[in-house]
Amino acid sequence: MNSMRKHKEIYGVIGYPVAHSYSAIMHNVAFKELGITAEYRLFSVEPKNLDNFMKRIGYLEISGFNVTIPHKEAIIPFLNGLSDAARAIGAVNTIVIERNKMSGFNTDGPGFIEHITKDLNFTIKGKTVSIVGAGGAARALTYYLAKNEAGAVYLYDLDRDKCVSLAADMARKYPGCDILPFSDLREMPVEKSHLFMNATPVGLNKDDPEVIDVGRLNPRSLVYDLLYNPQETRLLYSARKRGIRASNGLGMLLYQGVLAFEFWKKVKPPVESMRNALKEAIAKNK
Ligand code: NAP
Repeated sequence: MNSMRKHKEIYGVIGYPVAHSYSAIMHNVAFKELGITAEYRLFSVEPKNLDNFMKRIGYLEISGFNVTIPHKEAIIPFLNGLSDAARAIGAVNTIVIERNKMSGFNTDGPGFIEHITKDLNFTIKGKTVSIVGAGGAARALTYYLAKNEAGAVYLYDLDRDKCVSLAADMARKYPGCDILPFSDLREMPVEKSHLFMNATPVGLNKDDPEVIDVGRLNPRSLVYDLLYNPQETRLLYSARKRGIRASNGLGMLLYQGVLAFEFWKKVKPPVESMRNALKEAIAKNK
């Protein structure tokens, strides 16, 4: 009787912790709407268990998966291939499994570019961007901003070495973009920036301070916080209060998922249904 039943494909995200992830919500809505027999699951994998998990991928019959903190870099040695961008960024968030071979991609950067150009109508070419934070997300952003011909990218991180090495790596790759590290936030010329970005976890907690004194920002700039829960960090609130256009990172989350879905299923998923599902879930979780 069950022989007629379609085999269910398994997708998912591995991370630790991963329970807070919204990815399952948007992907499962897309599978359902397209009539695809598949399920997206959350796989909580501690760093010490990554090796064991990767050995069990075949047994778990996983068709493709996302990778989140803290595995985006550690996963690379397990893969059979990497896209040029993932190699240059040094981080992977999407894995495609075809004929038992695992290939790693980075859709965080392209997801951000989709959001900022399509939804926010921001033109990157020739623009000056300031980013606070030089971790994995900032690496992807800097790579894709430079690739899309931003004029300058200024970087600041509490960890100066991280900031200097990110700037050096990307400046070698994109000499046409002025990629400069700053060891003191007060010296970063944010007033000249068309786009100011928070790529740190500062703002996750209600009591967190603003990552920058908003009074220093160009009033005609765009402020972008990668965080999306809370939907309005103190940075975004203060920017809007001063009349500065501001966006959270929900669109980036959405489009990195859309692009991952396209890698796996080779079809365009229902973007607006995924966006609505994310918005609803985040609003409920307030
Ligand atoms: P990460 O690798 O931990 O990098 C964050 C960096 O910010 C670290 O180098 C950290 O330095 C630095 N930092 C922390 N507080 C700072 C401050 N006050 N000033 C300057 N630098 C500071 O994290 P990530 O993976 O890049 O992610 C960054 C944030 O973006 C996270 O909150 C993540 O949830 C979010 N994110 C959102 C999306 C999306 O789709 N919207 C996608 C990816 C990431 P220390 O290590 O020294 O603390």
